[in-house]
Amino acid sequence: MTANATAAAPVKEAPYFVEKVLWVKHWTDRLFSFAITRPASFRFRSGEFVMIGLPPREELGEKKPILRAYSIGSPSFAEELEFFSIKVPDGPLTSRLQLIQEGDEILLGKKPTGTLVLDAVRPGKRLFLFGTGTGLAPWLSVAYRDLFTQDIFDDPLVGDEARAQLTYYPTVTREPFERQGRFTDLITSGKLFSDLGIDGDKFDPENDRAMLCGSMAMIKDTAALLEAHGLKEGSNAEPGDFVIERAFVG
Ligand SMILES: Cc1cc2nc3c(=O)[nH]c(=O)nc-3n(C[C@H](O)[C@H](O)[C@H](O)COP(=O)(O)OP(=O)(O)OC[C@H]3O[C@@H](n4cnc5c(N)ncnc54)[C@H](O)[C@@H]3O)c2cc1C
Repeated sequence: MTANATAAAPVKEAPYFVEKVLWVKHWTDRLFSFAITRPASFRFRSGEFVMIGLPPREELGEKKPILRAYSIGSPSFAEELEFFSIKVPDGPLTSRLQLIQEGDEILLGKKPTGTLVLDAVRPGKRLFLFGTGTGLAPWLSVAYRDLFTQDIFDDPLVGDEARAQLTYYPTVTREPFERQGRFTDLITSGKLFSDLGIDGDKFDPENDRAMLCGSMAMIKDTAALLEAHGLKEGSNAEPGDFVIERAFVG
């Protein structure tokens, strides 16, 4: 027997964790949230995204899992991993994902990544988190109105900081609501600044930092506004005044 024959063949590490669904909450016919178990070795920075998906249905002859990028909605210290998802009726992943139930298996990528992280912005005094649609997910589950109008302020861990520092400023473009209009228009008109009690009706490149998550159009328009106010885009490699992430490609 040669040494070669006895050497163990290299074990190919599985590219995904297989995790369990802990709960599912349907908000509307287009949006739902769910949480999965978090592997002990899974580390991420708040604001990052990761690939998640469903195993192939072998009975249908599927060979490969279907995976998509998802922002992690829970903070980096949370015990479970929460996601906020669209339901695209004929979407390869979400037409199936919207049917998941407690106990089902979800594949979780091993390499979370992204630019919506504090490391990618320079130190400042005010941080604007702009999100639309499922682009709200990275703002630590911002999508849930009750959380941002009440629950977070009572949270034993972050309540004090939230009371001192967090302002939730929702605006909608279609349904009737207390505040309406695109936030890009609210920036241009100066209403966002006067509503928030910020002097000067514009962003201040010395102190203001921003993170954007939404559609391509939202990101393009908002980034142009920020640049017109003198803010520069940053990245993990070169921190700047604002960072962007597309909430979906479409
Ligand atoms: C960096 C990154 C982070 C993402 N984070 C999230 C997230 O947190 N939650 C989430 O639901 N999706 C997120 N997405 C989108 C996600 O990867 C999938 O596109 C989505 O789950 C739909 O998958 P699908 O296979 O059903 O349809 P797909 O074939 O992927 O999409 C079909 C079409 O649906 C539309 N669409 C896809 N996703 C969205 C969306 N989120 N909002 C509105 N329209 C959409 C687009 O027009 C797209 O062309 C993210 C994408 C990227 C690139």
